[in-house]
Amino acid sequence: MPTKKRVSILGVTGSIGQNTADVILAHPDLFEVDVVTAGNNPEKLADMAQKLNAKQAIIANSQAEPALADLLEGSGIQALSGKSALKNAINPDTDITVSAITGLAGLPPLMHALRHSRAVAIANKEPLVAAGQLVMAEARKHNCRILPLDSEHNAIFQIYDFERPEGVSRVILTASGGPFLRWSHEKTRQVTPEQALQHPTWSMGPKISVDSATMMNKALEIIEAHILFELPAEKISVLIHPQSVVHSLVEYSDGSVLAQMGASDMRTPIAHVLGWPDRIETPGRKLNLQTLSALSFEEPDMNQFPALRLAYECLERGPAACLAFNAANEVAVEFFLKNDLDFHGILRVIEYMMQNVPDTLLDSLEVIEATDAAIREEAKNYIMTGRIRTSSADAKRG
Ligand code: NDP
Repeated sequence: MPTKKRVSILGVTGSIGQNTADVILAHPDLFEVDVVTAGNNPEKLADMAQKLNAKQAIIANSQAEPALADLLEGSGIQALSGKSALKNAINPDTDITVSAITGLAGLPPLMHALRHSRAVAIANKEPLVAAGQLVMAEARKHNCRILPLDSEHNAIFQIYDFERPEGVSRVILTASGGPFLRWSHEKTRQVTPEQALQHPTWSMGPKISVDSATMMNKALEIIEAHILFELPAEKISVLIHPQSVVHSLVEYSDGSVLAQMGASDMRTPIAHVLGWPDRIETPGRKLNLQTLSALSFEEPDMNQFPALRLAYECLERGPAACLAFNAANEVAVEFFLKNDLDFHGILRVIEYMMQNVPDTLLDSLEVIEATDAAIREEAKNYIMTGRIRTSSADAKRG
């Protein structure tokens, strides 16, 4: 009998974490679980740790440790808490870590995971956007294989000719267009958090759902593709594909276009990375080609979705702009979800922070964290002091 892969899951209580658990539970003969983590939810973490028979459960919020310890008493699962425990979560000799925390909060445990795992499957795109060079250098240094888990990048990973990359003309990321694809700019002015959270084709956590509504998700993915596949901006394009069946495409110099298709169910890319390089059965939905009536593709309108234009500007300007792009978005989405910022305000905050990004050499985790904190502080001030209301960026677009 082959030895089981030892898996750890950063962010087990989230949407990706739950889907990962589903795939693992469908294959008790293939995987054993070492560490599982969460941010704030001891009940769900304890439940997942027990279902997965994990060895350790770590919660970032240390005030939740007593509750977690109570819930796990007698289970044999060790309960730990706090930022330091989270940062050092992954134990040496882990076969694969699934990085599925939301936001840049996932960066410190990801860096540690790259040092201690044979492979890291990355769903958590924000660290790749904000600190891509650092993440890739750490992976190379420790001979850790990065497996792209975001559905578009996983699709490209499956069809990209890594042996002969010079034959690749471009990669095409597909985008569903989100819930407001056919809405006018004027109509989206009044969008509420409840509306933004209703994604037409994917079921996801709140932050990425809002990112899909603003198209920031695709914008972050342009930068993610640049980092993961070392592609220049002119070799990365985006097409709107509302059916979410083709997850991305690679176009080659001889005119061949390879596409990866599947149901809009994250358990397919998760099964792919967990099984890699073998193929394993997904417990999720599969694509039924006979029921597909039509697949459509269209160029995105950069005026309707300014996030895409800003992503290409970030690639031109470099890592500090990418860091600001991500940090401003995280702050703005938090305010929007609490009803403290209007939908268009999200892009206004991002544009403002991109104009005011400090010119810093981002060569260590410490510098990145300090610069990120300063950007977040300024983005919060911009919103809370009301300066955002006098900004002209939105009016220009309208
Ligand atoms: P969720 O919001 O559903 O889950 C986030 C997870 O991160 C939860 O386990 C949460 O714990 C934990 N967490 C949140 N904040 C912190 C923190 N400060 N410190 C430690 N842990 C924290 O997010 P998703 O699963 O939707 O997304 C996760 C990542 O994967 C994101 O980067 C997203 O862009 C990416 N992704 C998601 C896809 C999807 O289909 N959902 C598709 C492709 C990429 P708790 O529950 O306790 O708050």
